[in-house]
Amino acid sequence: MTVPGSQRPPATPAQALAELQAGNRRFVTGDTRHPNQDADHRAAVADGQHPFAVILGCSDSRLAAEIIFDRGLGDLFVVRTAGHTVGAEVLGSVEYAVAVLGTPLVVVLGHDSCGAVQAAREADGTGTAPSGHLGAIVGAVVPSLRRAARQGVDDIEGIVDIHISHTVDVLLERSVTLARAVELGQCAVVGMSYRLAAGEVQVVAPLPADDRYTLAAGPLAPAEPR
Ligand SMILES: [Zn+2]
Repeated sequence: MTVPGSQRPPATPAQALAELQAGNRRFVTGDTRHPNQDADHRAAVADGQHPFAVILGCSDSRLAAEIIFDRGLGDLFVVRTAGHTVGAEVLGSVEYAVAVLGTPLVVVLGHDSCGAVQAAREADGTGTAPSGHLGAIVGAVVPSLRRAARQGVDDIEGIVDIHISHTVDVLLERSVTLARAVELGQCAVVGMSYRLAAGEVQVVAPLPADDRYTLAAGPLAPAEPR
């Protein structure tokens, strides 16, 4: 059970990242705690939210953020599109979390065997545009295919990792609000890749090598009792 208020939420990018990684380790090893999912916590966060991370993840049904990071209500601000592709609504959602809610970390979360990346590769290879709005997804992934080609990367998982890094760059290029928050040291953007079978996340686009992002602001309170 979680005792509400027993743990201060992560306040820096490094603390937020460490908290996500700790939750994912619990998920991988089957030692999950399901924090912040009880009725008391639900009532406690009803008046306001202070999520410690934005997760811009792929919509893939096997990539549920609160499950794979072992978190609960009010912890994660989740935005998901197929292939974590970025449009105006995605940018606005990320900016809301960072600028209004003060969320210190933005994570781009991709995964192996990503259907959006595979579809883009197929469409690009055959020169056939997919029907309907699927074209928008494929079109957003194609620049990552070009980047992979320039780097001589041809395997699908390597392309996925490049697409994650590319999405990090796109967020920072297209959102002045986010870039400014990062510049001020209030927020950082990282890329993570999830392995469907193992349940494990790996950092593929790390925190910037800058003390403002990598140093913890102070020790976190002990983890909540089981
Ligand atoms: Zn995917």
